[in-house]
Amino acid sequence: MQSLPHEAGIRAQPAGQPLCKQCAKPLSGDETAIYRKLINRGASEYLCIDCLAVFLGCGRKAIEDRIAYYRKAGTCVLFR
Ligand SMILES: [Zn+2]
Repeated sequence: MQSLPHEAGIRAQPAGQPLCKQCAKPLSGDETAIYRKLINRGASEYLCIDCLAVFLGCGRKAIEDRIAYYRKAGTCVLFR
């Protein structure tokens, strides 16, 4: 019972954790960030990766690749 989640150092989600507006899945920071990046910088509602992939008509993999790209680039304030 002592094992900590691997999220040490990650800020706890605020009470109003964003949910996918399509399927109501709780969203990760990556998911809200990529939505802002690809769809609307000022968004207050988001899609999860799966729903975003459908929305954009591309594969989930393409979105994950994009997230990885921005993370690696390290230049975007949405991905730190
Ligand atoms: Zn969804």
